[in-house]
Amino acid sequence: MIGGGISGLAAAHRLQESDADLDVQLFEAATRPGGVLQTEKHEDLLIERSADMFTTREPWALDLCRRIGFDDQLINTNEADRRAFVVRSGRLIPVPQGFALMSPTKLTAVLTTPLLSPLGKLRFLLEIFVRQRRETEDESLRDFSVRRFGKETFDRLIQPLVGGIYTADPEKLSMQAALSQFVAMESEHGSLIRAARKGRGQQQKAAGELSSGARYGQFVAPREGMGSLITALLNKLERTRIHVESPVDQLVRREQQWCLTSKGNQQTFDAVIVALPACRAAPLLSEADAQLSQLLDRITYASAAVVVLAYHRAEIQRMVQGFGFVVPAAENRRILAGSFSSIKFPHRAPNDRLLARVFMGGALQSKLLEQDDAELTGIAVDELQDLLEIAGQPYFSKVIRWNHAMPQYHLGHQELVARIRECESQMEGFAITGNAYSGVGIPMCIGNGERAAEQILRQLGDRVV
Ligand SMILES: Cc1cc2nc3c(=O)[nH]c(=O)nc-3n(C[C@H](O)[C@H](O)[C@H](O)COP(=O)(O)OP(=O)(O)OC[C@H]3O[C@@H](n4cnc5c(N)ncnc54)[C@H](O)[C@@H]3O)c2cc1C
Repeated sequence: MIGGGISGLAAAHRLQESDADLDVQLFEAATRPGGVLQTEKHEDLLIERSADMFTTREPWALDLCRRIGFDDQLINTNEADRRAFVVRSGRLIPVPQGFALMSPTKLTAVLTTPLLSPLGKLRFLLEIFVRQRRETEDESLRDFSVRRFGKETFDRLIQPLVGGIYTADPEKLSMQAALSQFVAMESEHGSLIRAARKGRGQQQKAAGELSSGARYGQFVAPREGMGSLITALLNKLERTRIHVESPVDQLVRREQQWCLTSKGNQQTFDAVIVALPACRAAPLLSEADAQLSQLLDRITYASAAVVVLAYHRAEIQRMVQGFGFVVPAAENRRILAGSFSSIKFPHRAPNDRLLARVFMGGALQSKLLEQDDAELTGIAVDELQDLLEIAGQPYFSKVIRWNHAMPQYHLGHQELVARIRECESQMEGFAITGNAYSGVGIPMCIGNGERAAEQILRQLGDRVV
């Protein structure tokens, strides 16, 4: 196993769970496994460095938590404040109730929101009559949403909401690869509004709510943060030999075996699972399969920074009761989004404090990240001060940088992944997984990691999984 992020750990766990006799070794470059999932404590603040919750709509993360006896550590988001905001002319306006990315389950909420002009609303409603697209080739997020809902709904709602997840350029983000459920809604129902209204009863029942923003009722988080999930998983991997600070530099196929080089030492294995970012996997594989290596190199990455800020609530004049906000590119601000960790999960800061995370950079504002930490903090403080009318300065701040951490599912991504899978299938005892291919969320990473493990188990001798 190469790479000890959640994808690699899930794969290792599946191998061990399925065959107790397998000799599994995991090579991780960093000082600790977990990849981007890291939790820090600063006095009474609990800080997530990257992901802070995961959806239960896709089952794999929750399933894994149950299997490792960690499900009792999962908490729901704070029910009282399940709403998100969008910035419009410097003010925080609630996302219309029931509006999840592109699926509006409550039309009256869209028709009464101050986020859209009367003309924008009219064009939004006309979505019901927009001709269904017959062409099957990939379409960008921008083209899809402008075609169906009009430019204003795209600029003011869809771009910021989706941008907050993928940190992507909407003109390049592939609908088929990143948001295929909406493509399916169009082809099945002819209209997303119609599809959303049909599915409304079901969704509400599943979510137990009609929240504003993401379907927050479907999300859970480890009480003590993502780091505790990694620790629980590591505790279950007692038979896996984990080598930290052991970057793998090369992987070649020799005499029906995989020969792996790390820190100048070579070892051979019957099978290998590569669970690295595609840009890290590419150079490793240049000798084993030059074509695969080139295909992997075509997956690009965006960078982001998370600026963590903690305030005394008394200093905040416009305190909003919600989980956070997203910023449309059209607002010309220097931040992408803000998340109020201590409102989402109240025990993450004392009651009289606000713990916030401000997201910056992404594909559209990559230049900003050239600034140093003090400058980034200054920008985040200014922006938050303006939006929340904060009188004082944060009593705690920290910049967390994620360089080349967000894989970009650009137009043609699915075709590229199909070619990668074709190369993978040509090599015996080889599987590749991670967030670069078919899902960036934690549940998808876990599900895909487990699938890679099952693939290897089948190849190793038709063992029952
Ligand atoms: C800021 C941010 C916020 C996010 N928020 C959410 C969220 O709220 N909910 C959600 O579901 N998802 C979220 N995600 C996405 C999700 O967290 C990631 O997609 C997922 O954790 C990636 O896991 P991974 O194992 O595929 O990759 P990684 O975590 O990147 O792990 C790859 C591992 O490989 C190691 N490695 C690299 N090179 C080598 C080498 N040569 N040899 C050995 N090891 C190597 C790295 O050190 C790393 O540990 C977020 C991501 C980010 C960055």
